[in-house]
Amino acid sequence: MPREMPYRRLGRSGLKVSLFSYGSWVTFGTQMDVAAASVCMRTAYDAGVNFFDNAEVYAAGESERIMGQAFQHEGWPRDSFIVSSKVYWGGDRPTQRGLSRKHIREACDGALKRLQLDYLDLFFCHRPDLETPIEETVRAMDGLIRQGKVLYWGTSEWTAQQIQEAHTVAARFGLEPPTMEQPQYNMFVREKVEKELLPLCVGAGLGMTIWSPLASGILTGKYAEGYPEGSRVTLEGYEWLRDIYESEKGRSRIAKAAQLEPVAREVGCSLAQLALVWCAKNPRVSTIILGASKLSQLEENLAALDYLDQVDDAVMESIESVLDNRPELPTQF
Ligand code: NDP
Repeated sequence: MPREMPYRRLGRSGLKVSLFSYGSWVTFGTQMDVAAASVCMRTAYDAGVNFFDNAEVYAAGESERIMGQAFQHEGWPRDSFIVSSKVYWGGDRPTQRGLSRKHIREACDGALKRLQLDYLDLFFCHRPDLETPIEETVRAMDGLIRQGKVLYWGTSEWTAQQIQEAHTVAARFGLEPPTMEQPQYNMFVREKVEKELLPLCVGAGLGMTIWSPLASGILTGKYAEGYPEGSRVTLEGYEWLRDIYESEKGRSRIAKAAQLEPVAREVGCSLAQLALVWCAKNPRVSTIILGASKLSQLEENLAALDYLDQVDDAVMESIESVLDNRPELPTQF
């Protein structure tokens, strides 16, 4: 019997989100059509996944359209799943991007239309916008919540200081503060989650929906021998990712992934599964957003749940000794 999906609170909110969720960046609209996306979403939902992550910028809106068609096709009760969108990159014109009151409103309406939904559970500011006062953004998000178009709002890749400012503004004016942040988190990128955001998680009850748990696929170990055909680095438009893989940092990450293989073998799981369980071991992480361009990948990743107990303190220490990048925490934590 596969292990049941655990659910965690989204920060201090009452919303229970599945430990593994499923996102559509790169995949929906580029590598997967509606039929393939529906099969993966159904597999995830049947395994207990209740959160599907999206953004206005993914495949320029096509990813939301595909997800919306899959929701229609599957016909799940609306109260049984959580869906997000993110606002920032909506088009090339000055009013189509950023976090102005205007773009936030238009982006929300656009996402709802493409997803064929009445409300978004989660709505993220996809990046900080230095040309919009944080107060304007907080007021715009609060307005959407009051209108019932959004239930919880959050940020993605904001600094702790920017999130703190949003909380301060919200408290001063009686507005809804951000509930969650969406940071990158994986074995190679951990400082922000484990150190910078920790005081906000503890003090303000910030939830974290983390992205790229496999470092865009490096933590599957599949890049040790080159670039498998059809993988995201081989796609048109993702040459920037290939450049990162070919940089000194990228090469050293690919080498580290190879060094982690024996640890995974010892546990009896794949490297991808080990990397996902490693993220899950951090109790501050509300949900780990899985990416998968194929059903077989999704199935393998969901089965990581079976190793949650096997990856004990001793295994975590073996991983640490390979990674050698544990951030130093201030003494009060
Ligand atoms: P991962 O780091 O887990 O990478 C997923 C990719 O790795 C897959 O699409 C696939 O790529 C490959 N892969 C996954 N599992 C396996 C496997 N078992 N074996 C072999 N290859 C595998 O996550 P993502 O980078 O996709 O991020 C996850 C989600 O997070 C996104 O969908 C999105 O919702 C969100 N996100 C948010 C961001 C933000 O700024 N807020 C930024 C990026 C992502 P391939 O096709 O190459 O095989």
